[in-house]
Amino acid sequence: MAKIHRITLLEGDGIGPEICAEVRKVAKATKLNIQFEIAYAGLAGIEKCNDVLPDTTLKLIKKNKVALKGPLTTPVGKGFASINVLLRKKLKLYANVRPVLSLPSLSAYKDVDIVIMRENTEGLYAGIEHEIAPGVVESIKVVTKQASLRIARYAFEYAKAQKRKRVTAIHKANIMKLSDGLFLKCARKVAKEYPQITYDELIVDNACMQLVTRPQQYDILLLENLYGDIVSDLCAGLVGGLGVVPGANIGKKFAIFESVHGSAPDIAGKGWANPTAIILTFAMMLRHLGEAATAAKVERAVHQVLAQKKLRTRDLGGKLNTTQLGDAIAERVAKS
Ligand code: NAD
Repeated sequence: MAKIHRITLLEGDGIGPEICAEVRKVAKATKLNIQFEIAYAGLAGIEKCNDVLPDTTLKLIKKNKVALKGPLTTPVGKGFASINVLLRKKLKLYANVRPVLSLPSLSAYKDVDIVIMRENTEGLYAGIEHEIAPGVVESIKVVTKQASLRIARYAFEYAKAQKRKRVTAIHKANIMKLSDGLFLKCARKVAKEYPQITYDELIVDNACMQLVTRPQQYDILLLENLYGDIVSDLCAGLVGGLGVVPGANIGKKFAIFESVHGSAPDIAGKGWANPTAIILTFAMMLRHLGEAATAAKVERAVHQVLAQKKLRTRDLGGKLNTTQLGDAIAERVAKS
């Protein structure tokens, strides 16, 4: 009998429920025994349980160890703190892994194959902000040796396992000599243990210019939290936009798989959301669960479908709605 995979599913809000419905179709088409157990957080958490992060949600993620998550809206400049950030901190999901791959016949830049390794627990996302006097506020960037060594080691171990050749640390240590300086010091220390992997460094502003000029030269990018977030969206733009880039938050005990994009309130409910990113995220999750062959099948189906101009959503210049693209991918998975 096929192994049962119990997965905690947080559909999220905005376009989350629409795109998660397509993942469920694709999951069914794989014929694996995947059982989604629903949990709520953020706006859905308030609506269903009167709590942005209900205990039951944390318990369910811990029980199943693996979760798939749609985006969660975070109010801008007011309201509750990011539940995405809270989940990553509470579950010690220290590595945010975001593979950015050119899609044949679609991406503006060909042959991009970059993996973003973003430190996921500290930096300016530590959330330490205060007003020190009227009109003067401070936001504190926290960098620790422990977290910097941990993400650097993850990046090099990933490079070794995936036979990748180069890790580039991105920083602003010319200005933030202590915080980014420590991040770099840790990356250099870990790099010495992997002489077979090329290690180099790039200042973040130059890195952005290099990435939009010749992204093909990069392999693994190692970044602290905020640079990782910004550079992820930049890299997504190189290969087709936020609708096509998957991601994972990995810790020692737990993992939450989620796309790079947010809740896209501007298109929520219109049927325009591209489900590709969350379907590729689902494939990453399958690989994590030891289902590499099925993961490859799903990825192949996505690439084959998107190679046809008529089978694309609006963000990719096509006319299909969310459901139609989900159907086309699920059909292809079922046939393969
Ligand atoms: P966003 O990623 O939601 O949207 C940016 C742009 O990309 C929008 O024009 C949107 O329509 C488009 N887009 C995003 N995903 C798409 C998809 N799948 N298909 C087609 N188009 C897509 O970023 P934002 O507008 O800056 O943020 C909106 C909300 O999402 C904010 O509350 C933010 O905090 C939250 N957010 C959540 C996560 C997460 O849950 N991990 C990540 C990023 C942002």
